[in-house]
Amino acid sequence: MSTHTNVLEMAREQLAVAARYLELDAGLHTVLASPQRTLIVRFPVVMDNGEVEVFEGYRVQHNASRGPTKGGIRYHPDVDVDETSALAMWMTWKCAVANIPYGGAKGSVKVDTKKLSRRELEKMTRRYTTEIGQMFGQYSDIPAPDIGTNAQVMSWIMDTYSMQAGHTVPGVVTGKPIELGGSEGRVEATGRGVVVATEEAAKSRGLNLNGAKVIVQGFGNVGATAAKLIQESGAIVVGISDAVGGIYNENGLPIRELFTRYQGREGGIREYKEAQPVSNSELLELPCDVLIPAAISAVIDERNADKIQARLVVEGANGPLTPDADRILQDKGIFVVPDILANSGGVVVSYFEWVQDLQNFFWEENEVNNKLTRIMRNSYAAVETMAKAHKTDLRTAALIIGVKRVADATIKRGIFP
Ligand code: NAD
Repeated sequence: MSTHTNVLEMAREQLAVAARYLELDAGLHTVLASPQRTLIVRFPVVMDNGEVEVFEGYRVQHNASRGPTKGGIRYHPDVDVDETSALAMWMTWKCAVANIPYGGAKGSVKVDTKKLSRRELEKMTRRYTTEIGQMFGQYSDIPAPDIGTNAQVMSWIMDTYSMQAGHTVPGVVTGKPIELGGSEGRVEATGRGVVVATEEAAKSRGLNLNGAKVIVQGFGNVGATAAKLIQESGAIVVGISDAVGGIYNENGLPIRELFTRYQGREGGIREYKEAQPVSNSELLELPCDVLIPAAISAVIDERNADKIQARLVVEGANGPLTPDADRILQDKGIFVVPDILANSGGVVVSYFEWVQDLQNFFWEENEVNNKLTRIMRNSYAAVETMAKAHKTDLRTAALIIGVKRVADATIKRGIFP
């Protein structure tokens, strides 16, 4: 995606496609094309050197017809209100496809966290939480981690909100550490869901994953977990990368060893020497059965889509394929499992975390993983059935399901007053 405005346009184009299939009422289409509520805040933070810096942040609630809004908080220098709105809209469809009782939201702050000390990061997080706190609430809007934020940031958000509420409110945010009401299985949830989606897609395409060759772009939360779990289920991970670059070995890579020895090191996984070093773009074009882009958006576009050799592409990241790339892969007969289906495991286990927090009753990891697997399989089956019914691809089918569930909820509730 070349500009952020395009991301919102892209989200609106996708909505328009689903609206055509559903013959959606024009008024309802207009309602769904824009967020329900947007807050833009500018707030000061006294930095470690005593100077005041002003940050800009957003919180966008796209649609709350099916329940409280849910969506991560991104800290990144390139965020803007359009990108945040697009991501909020995608969260609405993602929650609806998984059939969990949430609407979509997203928050962000324009900041390069690498330039902040830990103390500055904490102060900025607490002030941002205070500025947008009127939108948060365990029954209204529940944030979670996204790019640039993590369990520690969620802890500060929970604490800040709780200080102002006068009592501890763990259910106001998910992705927390276990000690503060986090859920077993949350850290691995997105990668685990990606692997379940891959298994379902492989089954339907007649591809045996046992011995299948897999390439994963990204070695963070999603990529490393997906690589580890897919290898454990019998596939061979032949290529993987992080921001520094990738490595390839057609006989397979020792994912667990890479994870314990090289993740987070300055030279990254490139320090592992029993493999051929490749660039991130070369990695995507290598021969494999399954390609899982699990790093950043728009890595496959009209320039390289024709060179992709995988049979299945499973979107671990949000938006790794541009619409042009989508069309090219489709023409080549490459089967794509879209992000709003493939990477929904994270928000599903966030939902489990919230349920556990509201009940003050916590589940064992097995229970979390089994429930997650069931939801992922059901979502996959529903999307596949819709794709067959409309003779369309999984992305369009997932959007049709998501938009239809939200539209139905809106119609049944009626328009107040
Ligand atoms: P992360 O920060 O843990 O990991 C990102 C990985 O990508 C790191 O290994 C990093 O080195 C690598 N990377 C960064 N820039 C790169 C580049 N230019 N080329 C190749 N690799 C690069 O993030 P994450 O949580 O794993 O998220 C990855 C993607 O998955 C994002 O698109 C995110 O929005 C999406 N996602 C995450 C979750 C979740 O629960 N974590 C849920 C749904 C979707």
